[in-house]
Amino acid sequence: MGNPLKVVIAGCSGRMGHALLEGVFADTELVLHGALDRADNAHLGRDVGEQLGRVSGVKVVSDIDIALKDADVLVDFTRPEASMIYLAACQKHGVKMIIGTTGFSAEEKKVIEAAARNISIVFAPNMSVGVTLLINLVEQAARVLNEGYDIEVVEMHHRHKVDAPSGTALRLGEAAAQGLGQDLKDCAVYAREGVTGEREAGKIGFATLRGGDVVGDHTVVLAGIGERVELTHKASSRATFALGALRAAKYLADKTSGLYDMRDVLGLR
Ligand code: NAD
Repeated sequence: MGNPLKVVIAGCSGRMGHALLEGVFADTELVLHGALDRADNAHLGRDVGEQLGRVSGVKVVSDIDIALKDADVLVDFTRPEASMIYLAACQKHGVKMIIGTTGFSAEEKKVIEAAARNISIVFAPNMSVGVTLLINLVEQAARVLNEGYDIEVVEMHHRHKVDAPSGTALRLGEAAAQGLGQDLKDCAVYAREGVTGEREAGKIGFATLRGGDVVGDHTVVLAGIGERVELTHKASSRATFALGALRAAKYLADKTSGLYDMRDVLGLR
């Protein structure tokens, strides 16, 4: 076994940040190299392990250049505005990047694509193995049920989530559109209210539920005449996303550039 991979966690005080720290501490192939968060973070300058009741020897910093010095990979679960800054810094320092943050605009996604010419990146709105499989199943289902079936994507997340629909719901919508031979932007319906008229064939509808502490539920419904197929995934702990993200970090170890997703990481292409 080679040297452990030097990992920096961005958003280290967040919900995903904590799950990622637990994952790094438990994995002998990884070593925590840096911990990043906002300049107004209450833990700034303190040992990041304190948040989990242990000592790690790594302090929380807000300066990306300090955090990335001599690092191998940055794991980012923050907000798009932070991810864009971190992306530029990773290119400057030649550090690989795992982007789990969701809510990017189309323009921001193009910036990520362009950056992947310089550094290797895994970018996926959902790092769980189960959802990665679900994406494949949805594409296949839409391809087979491509006529006479209406496709709807329903998701539920905890009350603190700030973007909607979830990045995973959008990814599932893209998979369904791909199965239908369409582009999601031409067939998505994100909201319905009032007298909407009858449902148009070929559209992909989205419904968003928010509440409590739900980690992430997604169902894709394919409703036809006399039957419907429902493909569902339910996450019960953030550990599934963290473990997937850290697996992705190891996948990049021998890759110097390129944009990958979890299907690449899991060999599902
Ligand atoms: P959270 O609010 O608990 O944590 C966000 C962290 O980012 C916090 O530590 C916060 O201080 C930090 N942050 C926010 N804005 C920042 C900025 N401008 N600069 C630096 N740091 C900043 O959120 P969370 O539940 O951990 O989710 C974080 C992101 O990860 C969200 O976009 C969420 O949708 C996404 N997510 C992705 C997956 C996946 O598998 N890809 C899974 C779960 C969550």
